[in-house]
Amino acid sequence: MSGVSDVLVVGGGLVGAATALGAAAAGRKVVLVDRTRPRESPGRFGVDIRNVACAPASRSLLESLGIWGELRPAPYVRMRVWEERGTAELDFDAADAGRTELGWILENGPTVQALWRHLEGEANVDIVVGKLDGIDVQGDGVRLGVDGRCLESRLLIGVDGARSEVRERLGVAVRTLATGQQALATVVRTEAGHQGVAYQRFLLDGPLALLPSREPNLSSVVWSQSPEAALRRQNLDEAAFCAELAMALEGRLGGIEAADDRLTFPLSQHVVADFNPAPRVLLIGDAARVLHPLAGLGANVGFEDTRDLLAILGRLPRDADPGTPGIWRAFARRRGVRAGMMVAAMSAFRQGYAGSGPLQTWVRNRAIGWVQNTPLVKQQIIREALGLGPVATRL
Ligand SMILES: Cc1cc2nc3c(=O)[nH]c(=O)nc-3n(C[C@H](O)[C@H](O)[C@H](O)COP(=O)(O)OP(=O)(O)OC[C@H]3O[C@@H](n4cnc5c(N)ncnc54)[C@H](O)[C@@H]3O)c2cc1C
Repeated sequence: MSGVSDVLVVGGGLVGAATALGAAAAGRKVVLVDRTRPRESPGRFGVDIRNVACAPASRSLLESLGIWGELRPAPYVRMRVWEERGTAELDFDAADAGRTELGWILENGPTVQALWRHLEGEANVDIVVGKLDGIDVQGDGVRLGVDGRCLESRLLIGVDGARSEVRERLGVAVRTLATGQQALATVVRTEAGHQGVAYQRFLLDGPLALLPSREPNLSSVVWSQSPEAALRRQNLDEAAFCAELAMALEGRLGGIEAADDRLTFPLSQHVVADFNPAPRVLLIGDAARVLHPLAGLGANVGFEDTRDLLAILGRLPRDADPGTPGIWRAFARRRGVRAGMMVAAMSAFRQGYAGSGPLQTWVRNRAIGWVQNTPLVKQQIIREALGLGPVATRL
């Protein structure tokens, strides 16, 4: 493929690769640029340490792209949420929302690799692996320098992650909310089987999540905490780390028998000022908005960007210029509103659980008790979290 592409996607992670594949399926000439190819990264237990909880709406997107059948998703049917201070507990069961599962845990590496395999099989897709050396946005198109080569396109989509170089090179303003936390991620083998149950406990220094894997005694851990605590726990020997984790989980799955490598990720939330910061340029996925992983929504909301974008692209005539000024303004507004809402919700949720005074703890426990005992409210919360509620589907 040569000449000017319709769509140039920078960043072939979960959201970028899905967007590139969808644009190609819509008959567009696509170029995907990434600085590296996705690598096999199974950990010691054969499971990727980086996992995402995938909501039903995201599954539908991956099905429509033809890759769902190649993945090995681990369904989770129930989620139990409790905290270090209080006594009230939330128990979300798929059956409460009339479903057989709440979602699926997907391994990042294999999912991205499946998307790339399909991209490599598309005649109208070029994949370029290299380093960006310049971006020039003009009225008639965008020019991107990669390792001395000039790529021309009608529309540039920056999906190059939380530290987006596209965003930085274009000088796009970002509103950042520091969380003061890091996430420690690993995979552990537990004494008791998980039975498709996900656990989340709000500890004094941050939320700890245990997500079921495709093996009955393996679960992945995402433990948000202060950078000092993350460093200390990363450096503990395996037995000491397992003992500390089992205690933090109050032995819900019995003892923790073994743990894989412990990776840490900086956590901050951010939202760009504009998802369409220049004519012919869009920012989506983590390049546009990063959410705290406590609700497991980052990739799911990124896939919402993809679905919305592909729907607009699909409505354009095949020969229409996808960078035509103006066509992305409503998209950018919608995505901006949704992102602002999600970042605020994550902050409120975190702060709500962080309040430690006796009155705050009492109020919170009463509120949680009320939600737990009010099936209609619980059902609505589940439906929103799954991307099926009125807010998620209207934006
Ligand atoms: C610990 C943790 C747990 C999480 N759990 C969940 C969860 O349960 N559910 C959920 O929905 N989300 C979760 N998330 C969030 C989710 O991982 C991200 O929202 C999602 O990966 C974003 O996808 P993306 O494609 O936008 O960015 P990324 O996955 O970061 O991909 C960016 C891509 O851009 C490429 N790139 C970067 N810089 C350049 C450059 N200069 N030039 C070219 N290419 C470049 C990278 O190589 C990469 O391929 C979690 C995040 C963390 C940190």
